[in-house]
Amino acid sequence: MIRSSRFAILALIGAAGCGGAQPPPAAPSGEAPAAGASGAPAAAAPAADNGNGGLPPPTAAADALKPVTITPPSPEGNPFASVGFYINPGYVKKVESSIKADAADSALLKKVEQYPTAVWLDSIAAAGTVSKVLDDAAAQEKKAGKPLVTVFAVYNLPERDCSAVASNGELTAANGGEKKYAKEFIGKIAAAFKAHPKQRIVAIVEPDSLPNIATNLDKKKCADAEPIYKHSIAAAIRELSLPNVSLYLDAAHAGWLGWSGNRMKIVKLYEEVLKDAGGADKIRGFATNVSNYDSLKGGDLGKLQPSDPCPDELTYVQQLDDTLTREGITGKAFVIDTSRNGKAGIRTNSGSWCNIKGAGLGERPQASPAPLVDAYFWIKPPGDADGGADPNKPGFDSNCGPDSKDSAPGAPRAGDWFSSYFVDLAKNADPPL
Ligand code: BGC
Repeated sequence: MIRSSRFAILALIGAAGCGGAQPPPAAPSGEAPAAGASGAPAAAAPAADNGNGGLPPPTAAADALKPVTITPPSPEGNPFASVGFYINPGYVKKVESSIKADAADSALLKKVEQYPTAVWLDSIAAAGTVSKVLDDAAAQEKKAGKPLVTVFAVYNLPERDCSAVASNGELTAANGGEKKYAKEFIGKIAAAFKAHPKQRIVAIVEPDSLPNIATNLDKKKCADAEPIYKHSIAAAIRELSLPNVSLYLDAAHAGWLGWSGNRMKIVKLYEEVLKDAGGADKIRGFATNVSNYDSLKGGDLGKLQPSDPCPDELTYVQQLDDTLTREGITGKAFVIDTSRNGKAGIRTNSGSWCNIKGAGLGERPQASPAPLVDAYFWIKPPGDADGGADPNKPGFDSNCGPDSKDSAPGAPRAGDWFSSYFVDLAKNADPPL
């Protein structure tokens, strides 16, 4: 999975950005203009682009967009509101393994066990566990005496993680991945969701996928994957949009899609995919900062990439909503991943995304914390690695290895438990545990 900033070389129009009029941005400062974090060439503005990412060209004097009226998402549609959260026993086991290895910090680490994390469905085998997870959630619900919400991250597209290597998956175009994804993966998940109609379910749909199509088509793997991603995500939305399920489509993060041109690109993709899926009403909204480290407010992006009009996630969700509204997608809500964004100022490069050194747990999972935001949630289970640091082991990604100054050394492959990193996350938690 790549969670890098992506490189908007697109001009902004005046007040379309988060901070009012902006000079036309060059490559983000601190980045080599010719290379993205994954080593890919930066996303350049297409030749025919007028510099506004598809928006009409600014007129001489009035180069600000007219304000639009934002429709807030319906509070009663928020699946996180007025319920408890499902605690994944698989995650608690991982925490317990760290407690065993680090008795001195056991009291602190133990505190983490009370917080929910998303259950990642990252393979066909994992899709086969959904029924069990939901049975378990029903049992927890009974014990708690109140409804609970269970959050899944649906993450197994063919040609997954097309612009990086850390999280490449089991399905490819060559092995019939598109069919398998629809039938054996999404089909299985949908059947389990349907078999648990009383369970309240949230599904975060395919982190990084459409953002990669928005900005990384210069990578052959992403260009080849474009139609597959679009069809597969539309199929996933069609199948998983059920009365007891709220869907949030991935929207990367402020450091990647914050520029107005990039926001416009992703919104055009949403329009296309949602149309194919049966309409924008099929989803509740969008998930941001999944597995990334951007701050909710303030933070280091403003300094690291000053041309980005969205220096943090709360500004980004507002501006993305503004762009969505201009394109007719209204009333959407957001979930922000706060699993590891507690500490700001820990990156030297805004494009760094792998096992960032010095990171701390962020805001605890909670409903309705800010306008437009359904929840802060720990989507990336804190302590799961982003990618492998050892060039000689499977799962190595150069963004995670010795050449990546911002990455903690010693990481196992993506998704595997990185115990020392988990301990640091707990110690650096902000707010503190
Ligand atoms: C990995 C997945 C894992 C997820 C959550 C991703 O980077 O590729 O296998 O389930 O992170 O840790």
